[in-house]
Amino acid sequence: MTTSSEATCLFCKIARGEIPSHKVHEDGRTFAFLDIHPLAPGHVLVIPKRHAPLLEELSADDAGALLATARDVGARAMRATHATATTIALNNGKDAGQEVGHVHIHVVPRRAGDGFGPIHALFTKRPDVSPAELAKLAEAMRSS
Ligand code: 5GP
Ligand code: ZN
Repeated sequence: MTTSSEATCLFCKIARGEIPSHKVHEDGRTFAFLDIHPLAPGHVLVIPKRHAPLLEELSADDAGALLATARDVGARAMRATHATATTIALNNGKDAGQEVGHVHIHVVPRRAGDGFGPIHALFTKRPDVSPAELAKLAEAMRSS
C-alpha cells in the first residue's frame, strides 16, 4: 500500500516519472538523476526507489544497491565532465542539512583547484576528545 509520504514525496515522484528529471541510471532498486541546482556540473543524486527518509531505514540490500549505483554513476559523471575526483556525500537527517526527506547520495564531480576542499572543511572547529573518551565512545557503540 502506498503511504501518504510516498504519495507526496518529491523524490518518489521523480523516481516514478511523475515529475520530470534528467535520468542518469535506473535499475530495480535505485534511480539516479541530475541535481536541479548543481554544486558542480554533473552533480547527480542517487536514491533508492523504496521511500525512506534516512539511511538507517533502508534494507541492507537497498543500502548496498545505493552505494553500487553511486560508484557507477560517479565514474560516468567523471567521464562526462572530465573531472578528476568526486565528493560523495549524504546529508542524513534534517539536523545535518537534509532538505528532501527521501535518502539520497550526492555525487559531485571534483577537480584540482576547484577550491572547495574536503568535507572536513564543513567543520570549522573540532572538539577536544581525549583517548579515554574515544575508548568510551567506541565501547558505547559496540554495545548499543
Ligand atoms: P539535501 O539538502 O536534501 O541533501 O539535497 C537536496 C537536493 O535536491 C539539493 O541539492 C537540490 O538542489 C535538489 N533538488 C531539490 N528539488 C529538486 C527537484 O525538483 N529536482 C531535482 N533534480 N533536484 C532537486
Ligand atoms: Zn520518497
